[in-house]
Amino acid sequence: QEGYNVTPWEARGKIDYDKLIQEFGVERLSEPLLARINTLAGGLHPLLRRGFFFAHRDLSLVLDDYEAGRGFFLYTGRAPSKAPMHIAHIVPFIATRWLQHSFGVNTYIEIPDEEKFLAKKVDSLEEVEPYIRQDILNIAALGFDENKTFIFRDSEYIGKMYRPAVLVARHINLSTARAVFGFDNETSIGLIFYPALQIVPTLFENRRPLIPCGIDQDPYFRLQRDIAPRLNRYKTAELLSKLAWGLTGPESKMSASEPETAIMLNDPPEVVKKKIMNAFTGGRATVEEQRKLGGVPEVCTVFHWYSLLFEEDDKKLEERYWACKTGKLLCGECKAELVKRINHFLALHNEKVKDVEKKVSKYMYDGKL
Ligand code: SF4
Repeated sequence: QEGYNVTPWEARGKIDYDKLIQEFGVERLSEPLLARINTLAGGLHPLLRRGFFFAHRDLSLVLDDYEAGRGFFLYTGRAPSKAPMHIAHIVPFIATRWLQHSFGVNTYIEIPDEEKFLAKKVDSLEEVEPYIRQDILNIAALGFDENKTFIFRDSEYIGKMYRPAVLVARHINLSTARAVFGFDNETSIGLIFYPALQIVPTLFENRRPLIPCGIDQDPYFRLQRDIAPRLNRYKTAELLSKLAWGLTGPESKMSASEPETAIMLNDPPEVVKKKIMNAFTGGRATVEEQRKLGGVPEVCTVFHWYSLLFEEDDKKLEERYWACKTGKLLCGECKAELVKRINHFLALHNEKVKDVEKKVSKYMYDGKL
């Protein structure tokens, strides 16, 4: 696409989400559909009502299944890399946890501990090993129901996954995989097989799977939807989000390899402060200008993070928006408050991580970690 590129391994440039809806052939999350979720779930999570989740596939069928008593299940995952998780990583998990609690459904969380190695993002399998346990703890600490959540590592669970993966792999031709993922001659053959393993959990229950994820993950599940009828299984439904911004601008992504773009879950308070104080905002060059012209919250990464995770109250978010627009609020004050909220969130989160550590085996498929 001109000016931007979105695949499961890369998202670059200014993303035109309207275009992406057309190109990917997904549906916009409409007001009537949101109203239906609101009724069934008894509310709407801010990530849905503020439009961060903006598109879907077959979500109305998921709700039909739920209403008819057939139910559905949730599936998501996290590929460990050679760095800890950051706050952008937890956004889809927060939406998943909300769906689990609102609908009382089973949730499968795949930890593809081989993916980064096969994609040549790390040099050895050992490099990601220290982060796997921490990732699992960070995810479990977000409040998943231990009786309905099933976390598994590919390398441990492969015995159960291999057979269905073979069934899946048989139906995917190299030409299709190339077209969907952009594989080239430098791609390892491991990565070419890997999508089969990512599709396997969609077959874990004989109900419709729903995947809340960034729109960049859609290609995997488009492929699943192609082959599901041939396997006599449900096509995967998706709830798709935009991509969260990094701290260096609306077109940046949080990335552990560029520390200034991301708040890591283990960043100490003073590091959070430094990163937020240096974040890209929609502020003006001088205080006088900002008082006169107002700021531009639409392009401000600080405002973006308030709206994603750090201001639950819609009215207060709107007040912040207008205070910025009219020059009543200055960036220094606005950033300082965000620093406080992020540090409070991280302190609580890391307490929960400690609690979850004692019972993490309950989330794992075989009690081992
Ligand atoms: Fe962003 Fe806040 Fe500055 Fe407005 S006042 S531009 S929302 S940091």
